[in-house]
Amino acid sequence: MRHTKISSKPSKPHRPEARRFMPPAHTLLLLGVLSSVTRWIVLVALASGVLLAVILLGASSARWRSLLLQDVTGAEQAPDDGARPPRIGLVSGHRGSDSGAVCPDGLTEAQLNSSHAQRIAGLLRAQGFLVDILDEFDPRLEGYRAAALVSIHADSCTYINDFATGFKVARAAHRPPGRDDHLVECLVKHYAEATGLRFHANSITRDMTHYHTFREIDPNTPAVIIETGFMYLDRDVLTRHADRVARGIANGILCFLQGNESLSH
Ligand SMILES: [Zn+2]
Repeated sequence: MRHTKISSKPSKPHRPEARRFMPPAHTLLLLGVLSSVTRWIVLVALASGVLLAVILLGASSARWRSLLLQDVTGAEQAPDDGARPPRIGLVSGHRGSDSGAVCPDGLTEAQLNSSHAQRIAGLLRAQGFLVDILDEFDPRLEGYRAAALVSIHADSCTYINDFATGFKVARAAHRPPGRDDHLVECLVKHYAEATGLRFHANSITRDMTHYHTFREIDPNTPAVIIETGFMYLDRDVLTRHADRVARGIANGILCFLQGNESLSH
């Protein structure tokens, strides 16, 4: 059986010859009025577009400001460099300077810190924050302004004793109490929760509380240093569960900036 093509081209409708004619004067007048009305409509639409954009921009920066002002320590205004959204600084411990602690198999603290810093930055950027990953002696640290700064380090890879496990978070010894303490509290809570590691409050050294970065940054930038764990006994968490390490630190920073909002997984 032959299939008949259903959609054969429809025959072209007969097109009558275009007639040439001069529109009457009142039609010309109407056309003129219509074109100027159209011009006005376009102008008004453009102007409202610009107005809307300005309103939206203002609203989003107000939202960030209100998030920052939720700082429970009652600071008048969270320090920021004026950029919206807020800026977070992460010092990738030892980067650009030296290897830090080294394990017998060649794993270095600098590598570990860098991998943690990258992961934390990824999580925070996904939340809309601006994140700077800074070298140990980064020239940008001089007068550095941000909503928070966390320097990421890890403890030695040599076996000390069975108690050399856990993490530490410290603030600068020379700065007044307040927001640095709040950042410490938030990091301790969320880091312990995410990694299951214990907080080693008693083994915080002078190296941590007199850490060089604390003297370089802007005095209004809240800052802490974290030792994420001991590379010998806590190696498994630090290497194979780096996602937990990153989540703990990112959540600690969010806790400080936004109350208790945290990333689930
Ligand atoms: Zn270190």
